[in-house]
Order: sequence, then C-alpha cells, then structure tokens
Amino acid sequence: MDSASGSCNACGAAGTALMKLSLGKDFFGRAYDRLSPSTDQSPKWYCEGCSMQKNLQRDFRDISAEIDKLVAGQTSELSKPDEFQRATLRVREIIALLGAAENRSPLLASTEVARLLERLNTITVPA
Ligand SMILES: [Zn+2]
Repeated sequence: MDSASGSCNACGAAGTALMKLSLGKDFFGRAYDRLSPSTDQSPKWYCEGCSMQKNLQRDFRDISAEIDKLVAGQTSELSKPDEFQRATLRVREIIALLGAAENRSPLLASTEVARLLERLNTITVPA
C-alpha cells in the first residue's frame, strides 16, 4: 500500500486496498483540472467502493453544471443532442449503480441524482 494515511479519504475504511484516484478527463472529455485544479493537485485515496462512487460523483457534478448553463441560456455541452442523450443515460446508470451499492454512498445522495434526472426530463433539446 502506498497511501499516506492508510485509510479511505471518503469513508475512512482501513486495511483494504486503496486506489489513488486520478480524475483525468471529465464526463465531456475535457481536462478535469480545468474545472477543479485544487482537486487534481492533491490526489486522494479511496477504497474500491468509494473510488467507483467518486467517478459517479464527478459525472454527476459535470452534468449538473452543464444543465445549469443550459437552463441559464449559456453555451452548454448538453445543447448537443448526442451529449444530452449520453448524459441522460449516464444519470440513469448512476441511479441504478447507487441503488445496487451495498453501502450508502458517503459521496453522493441518490435523491440528488434523482432530482438531476427530473431536471433532464424537463428539458427538450432540439434535434
Ligand atoms: Zn471508502
């Protein structure tokens, strides 16, 4: 194990395999550090369950931010029909994955994701 703390940065689990999470690209393929430089400069360590949820949380945040822009009439990745479709599928997938998780995620509340899907469902993107 190569972790500084030896425990998961999200749930605090110790004595399990930890993964250093490099966030890399965001959901829309942009360099992640453009959005959140501080996050990528201090890499965190997560157990297997949390690293999966961290990825879901990242996509959730990316998609939320793009919906905010779309609703505000700004340039948004979601104004592209194929990206909008992909984002909607991803949000459904996140809900399914959270529902299947053994432990409630300390990182992402399923009610928040459900609300995000509701917002997506109220938006009509011209094809
Ligand atoms: Zn954990």
